[in-house]
Amino acid sequence: MKIFNTLTRQKEEFVPLEPGKVKMYACGPTVYNFIHIGNARPICVFDTLRRYLEYRGYAVNFVQNFTDIDDKLIKKANEEGITVKEVAERYIKEYLTDAEGLGIRPATYHPKATENIDQIIKIVETLVEKGYAYANNGDVYFRSKKFKEYGKLSHMPLEELDAGNRIDVSEQKEDAMDFVLWKSAKPGEPFWQSPWGKGRPGWHIECTAMIQKYLGETIDIHCGGQDLIFPHHENEIAQAECCTGKEYARYWMHNGYINVDNHKMSKSLNNFFTTREVAEKYGYEPIKFMMLQAHYRSPINYSVDVIEQCRSALERLYNCRNNIDFMLGSAVDTMTEGEEAFRKTALSRKDQFIAAMEDDLNTADAISALFELARDCNSFFTQPRSKGVTQFAAALFDELSDVLGLLYNRQEDSSLDAEIEALIEKRQQARKNKDFATADAIRDQLKERNIVLEDTPNGVKWHQA
Ligand SMILES: [Zn+2]
Repeated sequence: MKIFNTLTRQKEEFVPLEPGKVKMYACGPTVYNFIHIGNARPICVFDTLRRYLEYRGYAVNFVQNFTDIDDKLIKKANEEGITVKEVAERYIKEYLTDAEGLGIRPATYHPKATENIDQIIKIVETLVEKGYAYANNGDVYFRSKKFKEYGKLSHMPLEELDAGNRIDVSEQKEDAMDFVLWKSAKPGEPFWQSPWGKGRPGWHIECTAMIQKYLGETIDIHCGGQDLIFPHHENEIAQAECCTGKEYARYWMHNGYINVDNHKMSKSLNNFFTTREVAEKYGYEPIKFMMLQAHYRSPINYSVDVIEQCRSALERLYNCRNNIDFMLGSAVDTMTEGEEAFRKTALSRKDQFIAAMEDDLNTADAISALFELARDCNSFFTQPRSKGVTQFAAALFDELSDVLGLLYNRQEDSSLDAEIEALIEKRQQARKNKDFATADAIRDQLKERNIVLEDTPNGVKWHQA
């Protein structure tokens, strides 16, 4: 597989450190609020990356953290008169609800910053010992300029990065470029004991601590949103590589931004949407589809039109897949005309799908391949086909949509399907027995539930209006 590596700015062949195994890490949410649709993008994209790597036979150890201590959590806790821990617990729960709705599989580990304070202190101590960090009045800072490769991920010369930094009067830094590893506790803030007094970790250090603890000193893939390249990921590299003397992450993947109606999402523009709000209106799966129908590095422009289009595109895929199931009911035992050619075409769609995913996770082209498969199926299954080829089409459809993490709401559908099919069967029976009163009653019952019946040469078909 080829991956565009932010570090080298090139597509590179992916070669894991250990054959057959992938260690990957994604920066997770700061749990002080509901996640917005911009936050949902890396969650969807990198879940699909993990699914694809597993599909290709890798054992993937995937870690995604929860930032459960920082200024925003403290502010929220003070506003609501509850503890920081309560804020974190509430929004981790809400995150998990959204993730489940989006069909995201839980990571191998979801560590929390507050549960890894020992590891964090250990790294900061090592950095102080090695002269890369210094304590000042209970704060500990990292000497960015001492790390000669500082800026290698963002590809910015030091002077340029420097120009954007100003020393905040409240800070005790030697240099504007330095960043905080450990913060002394202000009155009323949660704190932990440390060699530098009571305090709490800075943001960047937690990811490095969790990576070292759960994945080791060097990992294969580190991913996150583009907005994290600088300073977060740049700082992660500096502190980690100065601590261990080893390469931190071999491939860096970053997803693009989400704009709303062609504007950058921001609270001041009032075009800020939580995933929950959008899901309540349109469902979760169209959001997932929207994230995957674009290349992960391209920007996405969210609008009502776009999400509606995603919803109807998904519906076409569901209809096709449901039709294959329907055709299984009238499948025959012998091969019908054109089956070999159909199988060949369908398998070429699979090749097309894999080629797209191999090319830097091009989910946009992979989805196109799935739609072409759907078109092939729609024109092929207009008459009863052999059981073998019908099952083959269903399995291939499921295989590809599962790699993307789409069409995951079919299970719920199938209990509804069974119930409605039973009613249709009962109605057919009643008609056969000339019991028209029962047949009409069932028809009305179905109509009430917006089920539309359609008589076809292959039996009664139904769909929800
Ligand atoms: Zn991080």
